[in-house]
Amino acid sequence: MTTLRLILGDQLNGQHSWYSKVRDDVVYVMMEVRQETDYVLHHAQKIIAIFAAMRDFAARLRASGHVVHYLAIDDQDNVQSLPDNLDALLARYQASAFEWQAPDEWRLDEQLRAYAAALAITTGMADTEHFYSARDDAAGFFGQRGSWVMEHFYRHMRLRHRIMVSETGAPAGGQWNFDQDNREAWPGMPWEPADPRPRHDHSALWAAIEDAGARSFGQPQARDFRWPLNQEEALVQLEAFVQHALPHFGRFQDAMSYKAWRLFHSLLSFAMNVKLLSPRTVVQRVEQAWRDGHAPIAAAEGYIRQILGWREYVRGVYWYRMPGYVELNVFDHHTPLPHWFWDGQTRMRCLASAIGQSLEHAHSHHINRLMVIGNFALLAGISPQALHQWYLGIYIDAFEWVEAPNTLGMSQYADGGLLATKPYISSAAYIDRMSDYCKGCHYDKKQRVGERACPYNALYWDFLERNRPRLESNHRLQMPYKQLQRFSAQDLAAIRERSLSLRSNLNAA
Ligand code: FAD
Repeated sequence: MTTLRLILGDQLNGQHSWYSKVRDDVVYVMMEVRQETDYVLHHAQKIIAIFAAMRDFAARLRASGHVVHYLAIDDQDNVQSLPDNLDALLARYQASAFEWQAPDEWRLDEQLRAYAAALAITTGMADTEHFYSARDDAAGFFGQRGSWVMEHFYRHMRLRHRIMVSETGAPAGGQWNFDQDNREAWPGMPWEPADPRPRHDHSALWAAIEDAGARSFGQPQARDFRWPLNQEEALVQLEAFVQHALPHFGRFQDAMSYKAWRLFHSLLSFAMNVKLLSPRTVVQRVEQAWRDGHAPIAAAEGYIRQILGWREYVRGVYWYRMPGYVELNVFDHHTPLPHWFWDGQTRMRCLASAIGQSLEHAHSHHINRLMVIGNFALLAGISPQALHQWYLGIYIDAFEWVEAPNTLGMSQYADGGLLATKPYISSAAYIDRMSDYCKGCHYDKKQRVGERACPYNALYWDFLERNRPRLESNHRLQMPYKQLQRFSAQDLAAIRERSLSLRSNLNAA
């Protein structure tokens, strides 16, 4: 009587209760399939990282005595789809039971539920034992509210999990949120810490992926591969982050620089999203660093909010609104992505830098994703669906449950404000304040119209003007609408003309 247990590529949680006992009646199944490389065009590093981490995980399971059936991308027996491979393996092992862990993506959840429902053997889905909250916890917390304010959920999570709160439930330091301390531009000092990531040579794996015909984009960097691929490497990276970057994380959380792509960010999202690293381990270590006096409260609280707050919250939004969330397009935007999303070749220095580093590293930090790339896409009227596919493909940490709410909700406001209380948009002024991008740019950050005017400026004011009926009453947009009131009819006409000309030929920007 054999049980087949499926482990997906983002379910590499070595602490899962499945592995607490070695059982010879259980076969763990892992597979590298074209179904998963091809559902969107992926960055080469993302494919390498997932497969390499899966191979490492399988090797460790075997070393602990577990039986693992691993289908590599180039195995003869691999028919490249989950259900077809499972059919063959269930027959081969004459399995009497099939078990899997709850997928985080709706697409796979549906597929595996339907697959299991059609089997004549015992089936069961286990929890991944990774997140703080269940899929529907956020929906239960917010009930029927039309707008889900993350901060409310975050405070609830702090209290529920007793993180940075006193015995009486008061927040550490007397306040829940230290965001006002966390908005500094980076003056160039202190320098970003050394890249904390390990080094691997994955050229053989990359060759196998290419030979199998998987399409991709971005730089593979297979020979000097820099992402953590097992729990030990992730823990080393967490420690390096705590020691060298966390003390500055808060202050420079929103800063951007073309000279420093990592700044003081942890680069731990891949390790967490494939579950090599538990969010509890990270949050507890960061809280401890604050308790030890190693990190200021604003840095520790700011970092913990990203994981205990945002990460759990967006997952709740995803499961509440799927299916259908990825189709939302409240502004009815349909412009395709310009070529420079794929090659970084634009004269806008901020976008060339943010997209260039995304192509090079399969990563860019939050403010580049939100206030440079996403901001531009929203102002320019790019299709949120095209953008969603791009974000889902390019970032090493992109899995739909976390990527889609961030892209469609936070960055594109495509859900009409369920997730974000206002669209995250700005003119060149914000980008200039928070970065060194504008100095030396082909475009002039101060001008609104004319060939050399920074495109963000006309696009920003025109976006506000053309979406006046939907956005004017938003209390967080009162300031820009008051400013817009002061523009003359002539100014507005010139802005509209410049915006139209930009939007009709984004490739030339
Ligand atoms: P740090 O800045 O060191 O932050 C620590 C951790 O907090 C991250 O590792 C991540 O787990 C969590 N976190 C921070 N912000 C968010 C957030 N908004 N939502 C969820 N978790 C968060 N994050 C992903 O993990 N996958 C994605 O596909 C993804 N797509 C995004 C798309 C857009 C348009 C935007 C604006 C943000 C997106 N994010 C995504 C959130 C965030 O940009 C990344 O989590 C972060 O840049 C990862 O780098 P880091 O590990 O250095 O993060």
